[in-house]
Amino acid sequence: MHEHDTDRAAAEPPRRRDPVYAAATRMLAFALAPVAALATPGRARHTACRWALAARFPAECLDGLTPDTRAAFEAARTRALWEHGVLLGLTSGYRDRATQTAIYLAEVRRWGSVAEARRWALPPEESRHVAGTAIDVRPTEGARWLERHGALHSLYRVYDNEWWHFEYRPGGRPPRLPDPGAATRGARGRPLFRRAETMAVLDLTCSAP
Ligand SMILES: [Zn+2]
Repeated sequence: MHEHDTDRAAAEPPRRRDPVYAAATRMLAFALAPVAALATPGRARHTACRWALAARFPAECLDGLTPDTRAAFEAARTRALWEHGVLLGLTSGYRDRATQTAIYLAEVRRWGSVAEARRWALPPEESRHVAGTAIDVRPTEGARWLERHGALHSLYRVYDNEWWHFEYRPGGRPPRLPDPGAATRGARGRPLFRRAETMAVLDLTCSAP
């Protein structure tokens, strides 16, 4: 089960233990590099980074991302670690339709409105997590690094209200939106959805087993 976007903070305050974790992970990657060179000649830094980050973020799961998205993310985090000493972890990548539906319906229940829910989660047919081209990253420092350096890997922050959410966009930098629902809202920011539609979704929620 993947975690999902539960953190509403505009930016997490830096935690005192993060620099310690970063230093320990850097040291581990450095120590593993000779073995990584034997295991994967020419890819020592990449492999050592992968091993060290797996130790730091044991719960993360890169499965289900498209091969290009996964390769871009792994290249970015290798560069972040070796060039800048910054850790980049994955909170949530690919989600199946059922998981995304549950996340979306939870937001509809939470806000009592489809328009408001869409500021935080999209239904599965629109979600790039379901398409395997979106990643939620951590910690805040890693997300900041990716915002600054991600373009080289076609990874871009897309939403003002989600500092953790990045998308693989090989076509170039997408327009930055206030939130996930912004693309489908009316010109003056009014929701395109009617109350009846909200109630239909809530009915669906109530009838779910
Ligand atoms: Zn996301």
